[in-house]
Amino acid sequence: MDLSNRMNTYVNQKWPLGIYSFNDDIANIPDVVKLTVGEPGFHTPAHIKEAAIKAIQNDDSHYTNPRGLLSLRINASKFFKSHYGLNYDPKSEMLVTTGVSEGLGSVLAAIINPGDEVIIPTPIYPFYIPNVLIHDAKPIFINTDSTNFKLSPKVLAKTLKTHPKVKAVILNDPNNPTGVVYSKAELQQLADVIKQYPIFCLSDEIYSELTYGCKHYSMGTMIPDQVIMFNGASKTFAMTGWRIGLVCGPKKIIDKINKVHTITITAATTCSQYATNEAFKNGADDALPMKRAYRHNSQVLCHGLDKLGFKCPKPEGAFYTFAKLPKKYQNDSVGFAFTLAKKAHVGVVPGSVFGPGGEGYVRVSYAASLSDIKEALKRIRQFMQK
Ligand code: PLP
Repeated sequence: MDLSNRMNTYVNQKWPLGIYSFNDDIANIPDVVKLTVGEPGFHTPAHIKEAAIKAIQNDDSHYTNPRGLLSLRINASKFFKSHYGLNYDPKSEMLVTTGVSEGLGSVLAAIINPGDEVIIPTPIYPFYIPNVLIHDAKPIFINTDSTNFKLSPKVLAKTLKTHPKVKAVILNDPNNPTGVVYSKAELQQLADVIKQYPIFCLSDEIYSELTYGCKHYSMGTMIPDQVIMFNGASKTFAMTGWRIGLVCGPKKIIDKINKVHTITITAATTCSQYATNEAFKNGADDALPMKRAYRHNSQVLCHGLDKLGFKCPKPEGAFYTFAKLPKKYQNDSVGFAFTLAKKAHVGVVPGSVFGPGGEGYVRVSYAASLSDIKEALKRIRQFMQK
């Protein structure tokens, strides 16, 4: 069965790929203030761009080692060690991929067999779901709506007990779309459950540098033999278009993933790797001004939306607020988002595209400029008053 048919057996057409059609549909509406995108509202820092230009001028334009430039792996390893206490051997436990996106596809292709099950706590970044379905595996959704959008260790333990085919649990921390961040104790409780089973935790930490008033912890420090960690350049260094990610984990599994990665992409783009090497080597402070701006934006946005009858939890990480819709819109986040785009010319993403537990919410990005956020709030206010 092809992927689109498999998707139809699992999901209604509005999600998870509803996010594509939603963006396409609102793209045709003129003058929309888009608070839809998962893109840093900043450009790549100059020193990083210069490293890529230098690589091109030096004719460093050939394939790299499939695992990526060793210098990049060394500098990323040092960054992960100093920021999160992680210990990954650059030679054997790290792989440079074409963004976390390719990394995720290669990891699932390496570890998943038809009939396996993968636990996905929702609401979550929707692209994990087709990546599971493409291997004829089954996503087991755990709706976290009633546990503050965090995976509960009790529920995880119960699910693992009743699902012997589970091969992996996906965790996205800081979380897209909810903005929640797990504390060290919460991660340890989940790790204590996971270590009782022969499974992997696929830990997507792409937003690890974007936390507000709390610290990011990594499960790879707790149960390293079972964690496959994803991180990258996209969000930390405002480098979404450069397409560089990192997959880190135990040597044996990285060897397997590397085989899939090599046959699918050979190696990540060379000049982008040189740029990311510079980012991890000398860009430790690059995220700070972005964080400051995102935090301020989130305060303006959440305060404004709260006043209009939405409920916004205080964002802890990433750059989204997952706003609970006022009562009268709560059963139709898709309808609300389309109407808002058509009538008020403001783009937000319907919560239902993020899986079970997302209905009744919208994801609003505060990576936009402050002036766009203020303009959007003004338009939403006028829309709600009508
Ligand atoms: N993981 C999460 C949770 C994301 O939100 C995104 C992009 O929005 C990605 C992965 C994609 O990352 P990359 O640009 O490294 O492919």
